[in-house]
Formats: sequence, C-alpha cells, structure tokens
Amino acid sequence: MDQVQQKKRELMEAAHKLKEAGLLFRGYHANLSARISEDTMILTSGGSVEHLDENGFALIRLDGQVIEGDIAPVMAEIIQMHAGVYRERPSVGCVIHTHAPHATSFAVAQQPIPVVYEPLVRFGVTEDIPVVPWAPRGSDASVKGIVQIVKERPGVWAVLLANHGVLAFSRTITETVQLLATLDEAAEIVLNARMLGGEKRLPDQAFTQIQERMREFAEVKR
Ligand SMILES: [Zn+2]
Repeated sequence: MDQVQQKKRELMEAAHKLKEAGLLFRGYHANLSARISEDTMILTSGGSVEHLDENGFALIRLDGQVIEGDIAPVMAEIIQMHAGVYRERPSVGCVIHTHAPHATSFAVAQQPIPVVYEPLVRFGVTEDIPVVPWAPRGSDASVKGIVQIVKERPGVWAVLLANHGVLAFSRTITETVQLLATLDEAAEIVLNARMLGGEKRLPDQAFTQIQERMREFAEVKR
C-alpha cells in the first residue's frame, strides 16, 4: 500500500476514534490532515467526517496547490490553516481541527487552558494552550495568528481558535488523537476544579522532571 493510502486509512481510523470519544461534538465537524512528504499533505475534503471514506481526501502541496482530489469550496479556506503548521514545524506529522466540547468552551470564553494536568506535559506541552484572536476561520489573519504561535512557542502543540474550536498537532496521527483527547480531558477537569476553588499550578521544575522521566523510560524500553 502506498503512503497516501496508508495515511488515509490511519486518518479514517482517527476520525472514528474521535467520534467514539465524543471529541467531534454533535455536528461531526472536523478536518484532519497528515504529512505525506516535506512539502505535501492529505486533508479531508468535506466539512463533516461522520462518514469519512477514501474519497474524502485531497492531496495538497504545502503552498496550497491541490494536486489530487476535489476540495469543497468551504474547505479551501482550511488548507492554509493546516499547511501553515507543517511549513513552520517540520516535526509535525498530523494536524486535527475539531470542536471538542470542553476545549471549545475555553475557546468561546477566550481563556487559555492552563497546563495543570500532568498527562498533557507528556505530549511536550509545556505552555498554556493559547487563544488565537478571533478572525474568520481560515482567513489570512487567523492563519497568521496560528503560524506565529507555532513559530515562536515550541512548547505549544495545540491552539484554541477564539469563539470556534481547537487545532492540535503532533508527530504522528495516533499521538495527535491522544493529545486532543488529553486536552479535552484537561479542559473538563479544569472546569470541575474551578468549582472546588480552582486549579493549582505544577511547580516549575515539573516540566523538566516529567520529560527526564519519559526519556529514561524510553531508554529502558530500547
Ligand atoms: Zn471548525
């Protein structure tokens, strides 16, 4: 199976997992992409991923040019939102946008999600999940806001799109799905913690300590 087919299968599986985990919310609106090479990606080509199949993707160059497949006009504006992240961060292999309900609550409140839930740190997240100021989805202003954060803040692996939803990116498709799930969990837990007097910050050294331990573990596994 060639790489494009392989990645399509993985993204279809990812959409299924997101749906099962309640991360697509009620409208199943989402867009998922995976890097194919240094300068190409595949991207879901419709607005809903409820019945995603192999025909529901386009192969696109990171400069925005569609190489193969039809992109719904409403999706054309989404291309740069994904391509911009791949261009700016070469280690990214997958980008997912959804309206995951708890994370989106923070986006609508225009409040960052604080990194106070240890599992999040395991994804390399060491900074609060920032809010990209509102601009129409996929517009130049919105894409510039996303790209600037990705460029300047290496500890950021997801952003909240003000009054809209969330965009998460990581090295692999599996990892990006897990990151998104953990992020929405974190958002739900923080909301609950606020009924108990509010979340408490992790100590500063927690970030280096957690990552040290993960490195040790990875070495033992090898
Ligand atoms: Zn959206």
